[in-house]
Amino acid sequence: MEKNNKPTIVVSRCLGFSKCRYNGDIINDKFVEMLKEYVNYITVCPEVDIGLGIPRDTLRLVSENEKIELYQPATNKVFTKKMDEYSKDFLQSLDEVHGFILKGRSPSCGIKDVKVYLGKEKAVGSIKGAGIFASNVMDRYPYLAIEEEGRLTNYFIREHFLTKVFTLFRFQQVSESNSMKELVSFHSDNKYLFLSYNQSQLKILGKLVANHENRKFKDIINDYRDHLGLLLAKPPRKGNYMNSFMHIFGYFSEHLKKEEKEFLLERLNKYNEDKIHIGVITNLLKSYAIRYEKEYILNQSIFSTYPEELHFISDSGK
Ligand code: SF4
Repeated sequence: MEKNNKPTIVVSRCLGFSKCRYNGDIINDKFVEMLKEYVNYITVCPEVDIGLGIPRDTLRLVSENEKIELYQPATNKVFTKKMDEYSKDFLQSLDEVHGFILKGRSPSCGIKDVKVYLGKEKAVGSIKGAGIFASNVMDRYPYLAIEEEGRLTNYFIREHFLTKVFTLFRFQQVSESNSMKELVSFHSDNKYLFLSYNQSQLKILGKLVANHENRKFKDIINDYRDHLGLLLAKPPRKGNYMNSFMHIFGYFSEHLKKEEKEFLLERLNKYNEDKIHIGVITNLLKSYAIRYEKEYILNQSIFSTYPEELHFISDSGK
């Protein structure tokens, strides 16, 4: 893949790029490594970038006067303002970006479940929150694919993350094309994926693309971007996938023998009961689309939202 033909992901630098952890460690992450060939990475280590050295005294989040502070117990220094300003400047400097992979549990990079101490003293309780850099990322990019490396070991979270990254990247290419034809084609190719994600947002996108008011491309694309973000905000539900699969089935059901139909429906039920993987269904449906030359169905992104080489079904179950 050429540089311009790949999505861009910002990644915590300690995830395989530099020995920049507080203790001089580096974390080798299999998924981050695997993705290298398919995305452009921009690395960031907010703590080193604000001038803290390697190694350095640890930081922690502390809740004080209803404000979350980034505190270094060994020096009694507070780095919240510095980190906040750095984060805003860094994010401001970015061009197009499609996702973030951040180091979990870090008071700077963790997106959730970071320990927030209820005071500077040692023996106080704690709650959970997000790191200062990560909070800025989520504020600035509410609809982007933003995940922690640990959560991406879960199959469903990884699937959703990759779907978002590659769909948002393709959408960016469409918006740069300045072509209504490209937008119509993008919308059409994603129909059954989007139906699986969110039916009501799909309807809104459909109306935008139909453009009965004859609006300018620039205005349509801006609205489309917002609603695409809403559509991709939450992972699809199994019932919605079933709905899409039944629609696809309708394209060739009349050609199938009674036994073939029964077998396909039985597989769908098994998928619905969590007894088989979704790939069994998509492969089966795709093979019929090939046999009956259903071009429209073969172009559907639901069969290949992201490069096949990135498909692996291992799941940590976390
Ligand atoms: S978690 Fe973030 S701040 Fe900490 S070492 Fe990794 S990149 Fe740097």
